[in-house]
Amino acid sequence: MNAIMSHCHLYPGGKGEESRDEFGIPGTAAHLAGFIRSVGFSQAIGLAPHENPPDPQELARIGAGQDGLEWLMGQPGIGAGPDSPILPAATLKPQDPASLARLKAAYDRGVRCLKVHAIVQRCNPLDADSTRYFSLVAELGMAVIMHTGGGFWDWPSTDARAEVAFELGKRHPKLKLLLAHAGSFWGVDGFETSIRACEECPNLYLETTAMLTEVEREKWATALSRLGPSRIIYGNDYPWVKRDSVNAEVTILRSLSPDPAGAELMLGGNIRRLIQA
Ligand SMILES: [Zn+2]
Repeated sequence: MNAIMSHCHLYPGGKGEESRDEFGIPGTAAHLAGFIRSVGFSQAIGLAPHENPPDPQELARIGAGQDGLEWLMGQPGIGAGPDSPILPAATLKPQDPASLARLKAAYDRGVRCLKVHAIVQRCNPLDADSTRYFSLVAELGMAVIMHTGGGFWDWPSTDARAEVAFELGKRHPKLKLLLAHAGSFWGVDGFETSIRACEECPNLYLETTAMLTEVEREKWATALSRLGPSRIIYGNDYPWVKRDSVNAEVTILRSLSPDPAGAELMLGGNIRRLIQA
């Protein structure tokens, strides 16, 4: 199996010196490379820190107004080639006009994946000022991991609802959009809307981050029966995971798919197809 762990957050200096383990400090590229191997994954998608990081130390390391891609690309193990252990994802602001040129530059460097977090980035992806960004992303064929559900940040979480991703997917039928957290982050009831969005829009994908638990098993069984394994993608919000939690998630996913080939798609095949196309 050549599994890809998607949706892994990386930060200058990592997150939490106190949780250092045999791989180093969680949230660093070196730690992620060791961590994925320890749970049977061969590659990861590492996200550049979101714009406007609240931590001034982080900001100083990344550079004002930057999304951290420059920093990310300089980290060990990060590379845009298909066999790189950690594939980079940029986190540009959709509503910032400067993001268009930066998006093209990222694409030229081989970046094929993006993250959008409406609440942290303080934007509504459906606003007119974001349209050119998503049109260009669709034209370039890049995949977007989009935070869906609520959040604990100081911004109206309505901008990250599954309904927003649904509408965005309808407006840009070629935009490859992953509904991270299945529309349900922070207790929001967006699972059914997310499944419906994926049923209606073939360019949308259900992404499991933080939602693949025993409590939600029935919902995932329903999602799998309605969408099939080619529309579900495993992600996990590293570094806020443990080896045990990842193993438990993988076990649930495998138990839901009677056909091992389906599990392989969810654990890497789908995202690989999206970022290589
Ligand atoms: Zn995340």
